[in-house]
Amino acid sequence: MADYVIAPPAQAAVPVAGGGLFPVRRIFCVGRNYAEHVREMGGNPEREAPFFFTKPADAVVTDGADMPYPPATENLHHEMELVVAIGAGGADIAVADALGHVFGYAAGLDMTRRDLQNEAKNTRRPWDMSKGFDHSAPIGEILPAARLADPTTGKIELKVNGAVRQTSDLSQMIWSVAETVAYLSTLVRLAPGDLIFTGTPEGVAAVARGDVLEGSVAGVGTVSVRIA
Ligand code: MN
Repeated sequence: MADYVIAPPAQAAVPVAGGGLFPVRRIFCVGRNYAEHVREMGGNPEREAPFFFTKPADAVVTDGADMPYPPATENLHHEMELVVAIGAGGADIAVADALGHVFGYAAGLDMTRRDLQNEAKNTRRPWDMSKGFDHSAPIGEILPAARLADPTTGKIELKVNGAVRQTSDLSQMIWSVAETVAYLSTLVRLAPGDLIFTGTPEGVAAVARGDVLEGSVAGVGTVSVRIA
């Protein structure tokens, strides 16, 4: 028993389809990875190198639990994303080897306090408080990679109260899963337990208390959350 001076924090974890729990170490998120979303945010979708931001591991919301409407915002946005769960770590991973480091895939939501993000952009400040707040990462069950033939194609969709808000295809990603894993591994040594949110397609918009969000990635799974 280590000599901790306070109780150690609980291990954040995500259920795995078929049983077991995936322990979450870190959460990385890719910005601007679908051209139509880049355009709707006022950007120019040239193929620049991917960039990343993070959320704390305990931002995950699992098992269909409610997501409390967060403080300090009046513009909470949904961003429906494919999530990659890293099972084997490494640095400077080659693109050709990258999918071999993946434990599995899930459907997830990169919830965003858009008003705080816009303020951060305007004032050249960090995005942490717009992206990495409590309960900001609802995620569905992780599907083991062996059960997903191809993470480069498949419909990605989000419904809010039954109406389709976001719909696209994984093939529209500017940077593929393999390219993203490889590039991120040149910036940090990836480790088992890391999650990577791979960016959102177009159609991001605000949600309100009581809204029910139901996301799906074809062949991967679903994520559902109610804003409480
Ligand atoms: Mn995102």
